Amino acid sequence: MRIDIITLFPEMFEPVLNESILGRAQKSGALQIHCHQLRDYAFDKHRRVDDTPYGGGMGMLMKAEPIALCFEDICRQTDSRPHFVYMSPQGKTLNQQRLKELAQIENICILCGHYEGVDQRLLDTFIDEEISIGDYVLTGGEIPAMVFADALSRMVPGVLSNNECFTEESHFNGLLEYPQYTKPSSWRGLDVPDVLLSGHHANVEKWRKEKSVEVTMKKRPDMIKPGDD
Ligand code: SAM
Repeated sequence: MRIDIITLFPEMFEPVLNESILGRAQKSGALQIHCHQLRDYAFDKHRRVDDTPYGGGMGMLMKAEPIALCFEDICRQTDSRPHFVYMSPQGKTLNQQRLKELAQIENICILCGHYEGVDQRLLDTFIDEEISIGDYVLTGGEIPAMVFADALSRMVPGVLSNNECFTEESHFNGLLEYPQYTKPSSWRGLDVPDVLLSGHHANVEKWRKEKSVEVTMKKRPDMIKPGDD
């Protein structure tokens, strides 16, 4: 997968996306992430990427043309037109189901907004999807883009060592993950459940399924639909 990110702050991404699992995935070639400085596409006299909103009101808006030029430049570098996502508090809230679907796409381009947002005409004509990371407002789209790029990348084949790493996890199958324990088997008087020490794989599997349902019922009852076993 190739992810392109359009931002006024490309340096914010360097320490996050180039470290650890995502850094290794880029080195191995499973993943490509390219950050683009939007200011490089502002060609008017003052190289402005923002301006005041028509009709008055607070703050500044991101101009349409630099974003359009940047996206068109990215399109020239990719085999297919990227699915163009705008990180926005007005978008659909991101969830694992949507990530599963988006992980099938070869090229994704993410626009990070700033100030009061983006000229509506750019959103209407270029953007395929608006994605929110939750019902609250951040100062810019960079942190939401990092959240989205990270969650998306780990579903791409070859990024994690084994697909089970994500298929077993919370939300993948509509449940939260079962409780897990590591050494020592007894810690401050608290023992690991016997079944996990038994070496009996079928019983471990059964215990984990039951616990998954129990944890979901307790922490997120809204995730269990009526009629679910
Ligand atoms: N005026 C906009 C509104 O009321 O919808 C909010 C603009 S916000 C201050 C600046 C930028 O941060 C947005 O353009 C968007 O890219 C990003 N952003 C803020 N909250 C977000 C969220 N919950 N999810 C995704 N992006 C968000």
